[in-house]
Amino acid sequence: MSRLPEAVVVGGGLAGVAAAVAVARAGLRTLHLAPKGPPDRRTSALMGPSVDYLRASSLIGDPSSLGHPLTQIRIIDATDRLIRAPETLFDSKDAGLEAFGWNFPNIKLLEAFEVAGAALPNLETRELSLSGIDRGSDGWILTLSDGTVIETPFVVGSDGKKSLVRVATVFRAREHGFTQSALVCDLELGRPLGGASVEFHYEQGPFTLVPAGGSRANLVWIDDREVLKAAQASGPEGLRETFLKKSQRLFGDIKLLTPTHMFLLSTLTVERAGMDGIVLAGEAAHAFPPIGAQGLNLGLRDVADLAASLAAADRSVPHWAQAVSADYAARRADDLERTGGMVDALFRSLLSDFLPAQALRAGGLWALRLLPPLRKQAFGLGMGNR
Ligand SMILES: Cc1cc2nc3c(=O)[nH]c(=O)nc-3n(C[C@H](O)[C@H](O)[C@H](O)COP(=O)(O)OP(=O)(O)OC[C@H]3O[C@@H](n4cnc5c(N)ncnc54)[C@H](O)[C@@H]3O)c2cc1C
Repeated sequence: MSRLPEAVVVGGGLAGVAAAVAVARAGLRTLHLAPKGPPDRRTSALMGPSVDYLRASSLIGDPSSLGHPLTQIRIIDATDRLIRAPETLFDSKDAGLEAFGWNFPNIKLLEAFEVAGAALPNLETRELSLSGIDRGSDGWILTLSDGTVIETPFVVGSDGKKSLVRVATVFRAREHGFTQSALVCDLELGRPLGGASVEFHYEQGPFTLVPAGGSRANLVWIDDREVLKAAQASGPEGLRETFLKKSQRLFGDIKLLTPTHMFLLSTLTVERAGMDGIVLAGEAAHAFPPIGAQGLNLGLRDVADLAASLAAADRSVPHWAQAVSADYAARRADDLERTGGMVDALFRSLLSDFLPAQALRAGGLWALRLLPPLRKQAFGLGMGNR
């Protein structure tokens, strides 16, 4: 890039690459800082509206070439509590849909996004990190990990939960850590899940099997960190026994297909997602436990709103970057608050030992089971419909 970039996008995760593509497509000379990290072994359940966005913005083609449809959500209360919820099955047909969404390996999504980015002549990607960011006379001065210093009017911080862009600049965030973590791996089941994502709700968190095609499933198990560490230490045979027990042997024998990976869980919310020529997207702006598959769905809505803010901007005026960041913050405010609040309430209600909270949760699931209009509303909320 011979001239100074009009925008710098920081972070090479899924939100970062999608944001870099969106910013470059809006016509800005864009520098993308995307240091190579270890491969992201997670999968993402993306709801219908997110998949529609990915297709409309040519980030992916046919979803069936990358992932597997999610047609049902089955919730099994596996707790020993006094007030237990009924087993509940949500079917996409009840919402008038072929599928709620799709389950994609993150590695495949990232590859597809990178292909879309490589086709854009005004997008330059460097495998460098941001090591410092300071206010300049006309924007932000960025120091890169190779010592290069550049100035730009507009910065997108999509550098994950510990975002340097967020902590070193103007943003205020609230963070809360949990004693739980999430353990993920790929499994082969004796009996296939079909299109059903099956959640066993235990006192310390859900044990979820997500369909990954054929007899394969992706496991997301949330539990106390020490319990997960002990399970990991028990080796493949110990893990297999634990998984059989946790899945109540409903799906026959279980074979581990990949090693397990652990992720620390926390919530993070920012007061505003954009100001002073900087916007935050993805986990730089919001993080929460993987309950109800919301994280990346919300991150992609960040990117969609970033594209809308840039499309509406007049970049011929001075301080256009400040105007874009203010517009973005306004567009994102409701969705961030609503989604963050919903996931937090859901997670806490799952873990709560408080009897009225258990009664509310069980009563809520009964109501969703019995009342189609309420169920439709809940589907819409979970899918991120605006
Ligand atoms: C177990 C688990 C399961 C999940 N399942 C789902 C699901 O089913 N559906 C869903 O919607 N969401 C899900 N999520 C959430 C989803 O995975 C995340 O929201 C999403 O991956 C976050 O992407 P990101 O790009 O914002 O952050 P990250 O993937 O963390 O990427 C941040 C990037 O920034 C880079 N970076 C950091 N610092 C710097 C720097 N100084 N300079 C340059 N680059 C930097 C990092 O190297 C990294 O590449 C799940 C999360 C977990 C933990």
